[in-house]
Amino acid sequence: MNDILPGEIETWQFLEATARNVFGTYGFAEIRTPAVEKTELFCRSIGETTDIVEKEMYTFDDKSGNSLTLRPEGTAPVMRSFIQNRLHTLDPVSKLFYMGPMFRYERPQKGRYRQFHQIGAEVLGVEDPKIDAQVLSMLNQYFCRIGIESVSLQINSLGCPECRPGYRQQLIDYLEQRLDSLCADCQRRYKTNPLRVLDCKASGCKEATVDAPEMLEHLCADCEEHFSAVKKHLLALTIPFEVNARMVRGLDYYVRTTFEMVTDRLGSQNAVAAGGRYDGLVESLGGPALPGIGFAIGVERLVLMKGEEKIIPPVPQLFIAALGQAACDQAFVLMTELQRAGIRAEMDYQGKSLKAQMRRANKLNAAYTLIIGEEELKSGEAQLKCMADSKQSQAKLGQLAELLMEKLTK
Ligand code: ATP
Ligand code: MG
Repeated sequence: MNDILPGEIETWQFLEATARNVFGTYGFAEIRTPAVEKTELFCRSIGETTDIVEKEMYTFDDKSGNSLTLRPEGTAPVMRSFIQNRLHTLDPVSKLFYMGPMFRYERPQKGRYRQFHQIGAEVLGVEDPKIDAQVLSMLNQYFCRIGIESVSLQINSLGCPECRPGYRQQLIDYLEQRLDSLCADCQRRYKTNPLRVLDCKASGCKEATVDAPEMLEHLCADCEEHFSAVKKHLLALTIPFEVNARMVRGLDYYVRTTFEMVTDRLGSQNAVAAGGRYDGLVESLGGPALPGIGFAIGVERLVLMKGEEKIIPPVPQLFIAALGQAACDQAFVLMTELQRAGIRAEMDYQGKSLKAQMRRANKLNAAYTLIIGEEELKSGEAQLKCMADSKQSQAKLGQLAELLMEKLTK
């Protein structure tokens, strides 16, 4: 679990502000849900046999014996809130986005942490494949706007309750023939979660399943039509994508369209965003039978990709150096007035020498400095120095804010 420090936070703020901006353009409104939910919510939605529920959740009993869990992902909490607050009665289509910390007990490594952050979006109430394309278009637009180009979009269809069970059985039969080559995890789960084997990173499992049957070849007519339409709309919107028939997602609720934004720049943590359709999820949680689709972006992975491209934190616009007690007190009032006027002003609080104060102004990269001592207090004027070109100008202390505003906006 990481601290996010000044110097890093500017990148985070940029990524969040851009999300608010882009998602807002597409008609999404922000929703904030608590960081803890009843454990049962995640077991029922994500699925009992998934990695998240089997081994990654921070689950505890509270003092009244309720089992609670720190949210490992954002979709289930948003669905819970959507149902509880009857948001479907306000509008037949809901477009929601969220951002915040998620918690998974995983082995920490680059791009994988125990508290990490997601920015996610969900659309409820639309079955039309146009909405799949729109969600992907928004995701694509977001990556363009944050300036990350080295990602590619992979899509797949996982079928539906109509066509997946038949395919699933075929896959189980196929895996049964090759059990010896599978890793211990997959030998254990091939019957309960056979699709997960296709996604396993173990080389034995990869080799044993190169010619495994694919969901795409077993889609029912409706799923086939839906997937074709999604591809058609993506082409019309000129959004580049690749079909990856082996892509499965680690959460049970996905049906039909699933997708990932992947990069080759983060080693094995190659997914920076992932999502898909979850028609049936709202109903299975006790809400109305509404289709849904969404995604979540891993913010830490975005930050890693932004890498060297640090956004420079704002520097002071004025550093006031003061000599003597009276001047220091006056500098303090002056600085506060400037801050109230929206100017980033700084001063020294440690009674340092003038030389040391100027060194600090330099270190902070202040745009201007102002020196005040007894003389200046008396005359009500001081020298304002531009640090870039060392030019000095006379400034009336009573009109400092206006003067600085003028100089800073030039
Ligand atoms: P992975 O295959 O990397 O474990 P996942 O399939 O578990 O990812 P999702 O549950 O789909 O991931 O979450 C969406 C995104 O959240 C991921 O694509 C990734 O960018 C990010 N993410 C997931 N788990 C972590 C983690 N432990 N630390 C940092 N980011 C994460
Ligand atoms: Mg994972």
